[in-house]
Amino acid sequence: MEYAENILETIGNTPLVKLNKLTAELPCLVLAKYETFNPGNSVKDRMALQMIEDAEADGRLKPGGTIIEGTSGNTGMGLALAAIVKGYKCVFVMADKQSKEKVDILKAVGAEVVVCPTDVEPTDPRSYYSVSKRLAEETPNAWYVNQYDNPSNTKAHYQSTGPEIWEQTEGKITHFVVGVGTGGTISGVGKYLKEQNPDVKVWGIDTYGSVFKKYHETGIFDENEIYPYVTEGIGEDILPENVDFSIIDGFTKVTDKDAAVYTQRLSKEEGMFLGNSAGAAIKGVLQLKEHFTKDDVVVVLFHDHGSRYVGKMFNDSWMREKGYIE
Ligand code: PMP
Repeated sequence: MEYAENILETIGNTPLVKLNKLTAELPCLVLAKYETFNPGNSVKDRMALQMIEDAEADGRLKPGGTIIEGTSGNTGMGLALAAIVKGYKCVFVMADKQSKEKVDILKAVGAEVVVCPTDVEPTDPRSYYSVSKRLAEETPNAWYVNQYDNPSNTKAHYQSTGPEIWEQTEGKITHFVVGVGTGGTISGVGKYLKEQNPDVKVWGIDTYGSVFKKYHETGIFDENEIYPYVTEGIGEDILPENVDFSIIDGFTKVTDKDAAVYTQRLSKEEGMFLGNSAGAAIKGVLQLKEHFTKDDVVVVLFHDHGSRYVGKMFNDSWMREKGYIE
């Protein structure tokens, strides 16, 4: 018989899938690292498990403990699955711009969810950064995960996602393109790939309203770059320690409208029912067209599943209200 001992053993080893229609204008092969095959339907299962196991190993997380995190949902799902198998409680703090589906899903896997306002400064006591830190201090036997600065986040991608992509492309990958939030995915995968072949180019997808692109290009943390945006999962108003700017060759910014429209197009033209950051990522790949030549092998990583966005990017009334479709 062939079976996994528990659901956590099914994390990773996701497929690479060729894009056929949306990328027809590009000269090269474009392959999607399809992370929704993870049990929590996102790439975040990988780092959630790694962060928990590293915290168990050095005693930050103790038996019966409570896991506390500020999360847009996917990290929460990964943490919740691991918590169920390993016997921990979870409290997640989310910004109110996140979809209702994400909140409901986290409750469905047994987590407690606290919702905070989106449009306040990170240092404001009401922000989800501040609230999660405070809860971690006040709750007995709590462990504050801090995916932004927790090195186990990048490590998970260095140890699993990166090697998988290298092996699946038989070392032929020339470009890796991925949305950047905490930075764990780009930094871990990018570092591994560049160690195998320093010529591999690593591109980050950023949003308008986020600080990454400007910071990468100028070294200036420009507060004028920060304003509310709709795209979920990528872009930040802080510089997480997990973003290793030294391994990133460049960023391209994708508009909220394009990210939403391309999320729908991935579904309708490729049969790839994916989250909002996948739409941003594939539009970003198209924006980078001039960087690609015939023999290139471009891998774009798709973080999460479309089911979490049915009330938004997959709802035409919502798309019309935002002015994204006629
Ligand atoms: N897309 C989605 C949907 C996400 O949840 C995240 C994580 N915030 C990202 C992209 C960015 O990944 P990372 O945090 O590893 O940079």
